[in-house]
Amino acid sequence: MFLSCLLMEELKRNPGLKEDIEKLYEAVPQLSKVFQITDKIGEGTFSSVYLATAQLISGNEEKFALKHLIPTSHPLRIAAELQCLTVAGGQDNVMGVKHCFRKNDHVVIIMPYLEHDDFLDILNSLSFEEVREYMFNLLKALKRIHSFGIVHRDVKPSNFLFNRQLKKYALVDFGLAQGTSDTKIELLKVVQSESQQRSCSQNKRHRMTGNRATVPPELAQQSVAKPAVRPWWSLSQIQIKPGKEEFSGLSAQRFVFGERNFNIKSPHSQQNVTVRLTKQTKVMDVESKKLLTKKKIVSSKTLNNGTARRGTTTVPSNLTCECYATDRVCSICLSRRQQVAPRAGTPGFRAPEVLTKCPNQTTAIDMWSAGIIFLSLLSGRYPFFKASDDLSALAQIMTIRGSKETIQAAKRFGKSILCSKEIPGQDLKTLCERLRGISCAEPTANELEQDSMHLTVSEENKKEDMLIPQTHEEQSLLQNCSLEHCHSDSKTEISMFTVNMKGWDRVPDEAYNLLDKLLDLNPVTRITAEESLLHPVFETMQL
Ligand code: ADP
Ligand code: MG
Ligand code: ZN
Repeated sequence: MFLSCLLMEELKRNPGLKEDIEKLYEAVPQLSKVFQITDKIGEGTFSSVYLATAQLISGNEEKFALKHLIPTSHPLRIAAELQCLTVAGGQDNVMGVKHCFRKNDHVVIIMPYLEHDDFLDILNSLSFEEVREYMFNLLKALKRIHSFGIVHRDVKPSNFLFNRQLKKYALVDFGLAQGTSDTKIELLKVVQSESQQRSCSQNKRHRMTGNRATVPPELAQQSVAKPAVRPWWSLSQIQIKPGKEEFSGLSAQRFVFGERNFNIKSPHSQQNVTVRLTKQTKVMDVESKKLLTKKKIVSSKTLNNGTARRGTTTVPSNLTCECYATDRVCSICLSRRQQVAPRAGTPGFRAPEVLTKCPNQTTAIDMWSAGIIFLSLLSGRYPFFKASDDLSALAQIMTIRGSKETIQAAKRFGKSILCSKEIPGQDLKTLCERLRGISCAEPTANELEQDSMHLTVSEENKKEDMLIPQTHEEQSLLQNCSLEHCHSDSKTEISMFTVNMKGWDRVPDEAYNLLDKLLDLNPVTRITAEESLLHPVFETMQL
């Protein structure tokens, strides 16, 4: 009774929902025996996630998240995602798995449901203490998966569920994960990108992705994620396509939430900063890329058609495979051709070594992404970088970390970057305080650039605005901030200000020190998850 009421409510909100639910019940009939699906809670290009309830033997009702993977996903990719959840999940803020249903090419992963807050909704109301706890819990999850030799590769707020009230956290979505050379996740040994098989200098602190296990050549060819084989400009070419097409193309990017803004033209590409990556077969700069994009779309259509044809399964549809209802992937399934282009993470969260296509990527790439989340939390701006392609993302990193520094770091991992203009790095504390609206410092030209970048977002999304004063006192205090904060002699006003600022006026320098270590341009020296948990900023926290 209660359930059907719930469902009715949802149906009023989303008329297409009923149809989607019915289709899912039809595709995987076993579901209807156990679950009452009530809502859709996530929809990307590669999966739909539903909320469902089930009656337990005890008589109690429990909520579950049902992740329905698109039927075109490679079986090996699906199996690897599941194995990450089953082996590493269920502990230390890593999402676990309860069950998995399959019928033909439809796979549904059943997870415990964690109700969570929308990052953008809460970003500007979090206290500094909450931010510290959030980061501690994220780093704990990363330590856990890295200890299993899993590189998540898509660390961002929509993949780190946060229930503010219950102080519960869960890292989800291993759809892009890769294994380190010594990964404990067997299936990640075969889900390797070709680029990672060409491993060079070993990195002792961070664990490198790569493959020691011998991969049968036919498997390696169909390996699910192989970004290196794709032309390095192909991502930008796809993302620039406007409108709904980005959801339907074979190589479409994933958009879950919050990522919409990534398609806004970056103000950096409008400035006359030209970033080029040399040592590539193609050298392109940010400005000329726009022209080339038009031509490329035409050729990509032909390419997509070709892929689609080749992508049709080589196995007759009536042939029952040998792994049905087992925990293995049989040779029939392994021989199925990949139907979707490899997925890519979100440019704004990608580490410099990922943006420059460095072949030996390590667990350090997740640490960079955690740094970008921390930067959002400290500055109150999300998304912090909104680049539609890798080179724009690199240009945006330079405005924060400096162009010389970025070029120098890239040189260490064997990449040459050309930049037309020298951009100085910024002091992270000053930058965050100013973006949050609690600093009295005069912004530099480079900082103003950051402001203009964020103004674009603010217009698009009002929620993204700076700390909004709640009460009249807060308003006047904030207005007087530059006075009170810098040379105040009124103790009462200051203490009131302190209370209303939720600790933002007392952010310890250690926080910015950790941010600096996470956003280390050099992956070899970048802080590890294990080290970061021991950082002084977390001194009072329990491991
Ligand atoms: P995708 O690969 O399509 O990004 P995700 O695994 O990231 O799929 O799930 C998409 C969204 O669904 C998440 O951002 C989250 O909002 C929701 N979700 C996923 N798993 C759960 C879960 N176990 N509990 C609650 N919500 C979930
Ligand atoms: Mg996701
Ligand atoms: Zn099979």
